Amino acid sequence: MNKGNIGVTSDNIFPVIKKFLYSDHEIFLRELISNAVDATQKLKTLSTAGTFKGELGDLRVRVRIDKDKKTLTVSDHGIGMSAEEVDRFINQIAFSGAEEFVNQYKDKAEAIIGHFGLGFYSAFMVADKVEIFSQSYDENAKAVHWSCEGNPEYQMEETIKAERGTDVVLHINDEFSQYLEDATIEGLLKKYCKFLPVEIAFGMKKEWKDGKQVDTGEENIVNNTNPAWTRKPADLKEEDYEKFYHELYPMQFDEPLFHIHLNVDYPFHLTGILYFPKIKNNLDVHRNKIQLYCNQVFVTDEVANIVPEYLTLLHGVIDSPDIPLNVSRSYLQSDNNVKKISSHITKKVADKLAELFKNDRADFEKKWDDIKLFIQFGMLSDEKFYDRAIGFALLKNIDKQYFTLEEYKAKVKDAQTDKNGDLILLYTHDADATYTYIQRAKEKGYDVLLMDGEIDVHAMSQFEQKAMDDGGEEKHALRFVRVDSDVIENLIVKEDKAAVNLTTEEEDALRYSFEGLLPKNEKANYVVSLENVSADALPVFLTQSEWMRRMKEMSAHQQGMSFYGNMPDSYNLVVNIAHPKVQALLAEIKEATGNSLDELNQQVEVLRKEEQAAKDKKDEPKEGEEKRDFPKEIAALREQIKQHYTEGAKANDKVSQLLDIAFLASGLLKGEALAKFVNRSVELL
Ligand code: ADP
Repeated sequence: MNKGNIGVTSDNIFPVIKKFLYSDHEIFLRELISNAVDATQKLKTLSTAGTFKGELGDLRVRVRIDKDKKTLTVSDHGIGMSAEEVDRFINQIAFSGAEEFVNQYKDKAEAIIGHFGLGFYSAFMVADKVEIFSQSYDENAKAVHWSCEGNPEYQMEETIKAERGTDVVLHINDEFSQYLEDATIEGLLKKYCKFLPVEIAFGMKKEWKDGKQVDTGEENIVNNTNPAWTRKPADLKEEDYEKFYHELYPMQFDEPLFHIHLNVDYPFHLTGILYFPKIKNNLDVHRNKIQLYCNQVFVTDEVANIVPEYLTLLHGVIDSPDIPLNVSRSYLQSDNNVKKISSHITKKVADKLAELFKNDRADFEKKWDDIKLFIQFGMLSDEKFYDRAIGFALLKNIDKQYFTLEEYKAKVKDAQTDKNGDLILLYTHDADATYTYIQRAKEKGYDVLLMDGEIDVHAMSQFEQKAMDDGGEEKHALRFVRVDSDVIENLIVKEDKAAVNLTTEEEDALRYSFEGLLPKNEKANYVVSLENVSADALPVFLTQSEWMRRMKEMSAHQQGMSFYGNMPDSYNLVVNIAHPKVQALLAEIKEATGNSLDELNQQVEVLRKEEQAAKDKKDEPKEGEEKRDFPKEIAALREQIKQHYTEGAKANDKVSQLLDIAFLASGLLKGEALAKFVNRSVELL
């Protein structure tokens, strides 16, 4: 028997393995099975090359549990190892600067294991003792038995092993008895080994017989050795891609919309299939993730550092031996291969979308609502993707017609360019709620877009910004405005409006009559403005600044914008003095007021003159004389005027009625106010 010390420069790797690699114990199984698969693949290669002339025979890798002996064994019929090879590959492990490194990556078992080629040694995370029985494919080599009990001493001796290949036997530590349970191992095999290129057998296939599960005598193969992504696209039908999708995600019942088969040889190796899932208005679609494989070994489904974030919305697999898997995340992002892979995938995805758009636009339009969120997300987060996607990103109008931005601009250009040459694109977030506004827009021959998606607000801002940037010589803006944010005449202004032509008393009469009856709460601010809109617009209506509303909407999705989210809504109450009902109301108020405010108005007038005179003279108050506060005195008088009109308005149902109609048209009349409105309307009939 041969005794020796495992060749590490640091004292002892075992405490390191046991102490730090606590989080991902389970990957030991992946490591051992990967080694077995590698050994099998190597033998196949030798056989093809003619170096190995024997029979390949049964090449299955087998995983076995012996509950009595508390062992878990991974066996292969691969190339095996001679004593000299065990010494070289297993005993002499290079391990320099171990502690320093381990401290740096305390929580990342994978990083440590992979970095130092400690794959095999990860067995010691869960086993007190590990044995290797190996017979090399080279028949001149004697079989070897190696064993080690988790300390730097190992034992090696000659043995007899009938079959070519390697058995690795783990004597599982009591603390990790779960790894002696069929269900646990089955689960791990499903997770890591589902698509390994060599058959992996675990136990026997079972079937139901007389209400009991019995073995079938057939081995239970846990993997598909020939998954779709490793095959040629030409050999695959649409059904194959769909079948594979469900193989990847057994709990996913929706069909994918379409797929992209990736196949790159240069400058890096990458294969894979990406699927576009159906994404509705829901950003929480990360239940099924893209899975990353390395030569068909599952590595992770955290691909955030390998593909751009918006692509993580896709499903599917990426397999690349060129992604450095065992390095820190920040390193990964700066890795050149990873950067290239990321931009390659982006390009492929964009090309595929462009191709679908070009080849079958009708079908593309049918799928648009499902892929819209993804494409907008991509356009917002990646300039390059924006440039590619602008050719196929669609806008949908309320009549369910689809246009690219360019097509749409051409369509509405003549009708919807305002007096300054700006192109105004009208949109609604809800066609039912804004029905009356849409009707008015249509009467004018305008078109209205439906923008009810979660990130439409951001997408619109981006289009506007880009139009500004690309404006060139004649910088005419492109603006999206919500169709209910103002009367249509104000949204697309065709000519200068006639000025408001009212006396101060008339302005007071209208302004104060409405102001006094506006609801008062912290959630909303209202400002009354008198405007000469048009006789056929509503007599009184609410408007909200497009900018402010968008800021608030964006703040719902974006950090650092809660400032806007917390601001009260602010509305403009527009009193349309061009409307006959408003003119009639004004006449009524004037008549009801008669001469009763003349005196107050005169007093205000006198104060204003005195104020002006004082200012002109700039004289200081004389000794013993108080300095007069004219603004305060005027405000006090005007408050009385306001009171008068408010009292008048309360007595005049028409003011309340007009105000309620304005709130109703904006969908803001609710509860008690709505009930009052209904009752009053009945009274007024
Ligand atoms: P890695 O697989 O990263 O090289 P390991 O520690 O897992 O590191 O294995 C070290 C080496 O031991 C392998 O490269 C291989 O040459 C040899 N080896 C491990 N397991 C087997 C096996 N089942 N059959 C043949 N050789 C093996």
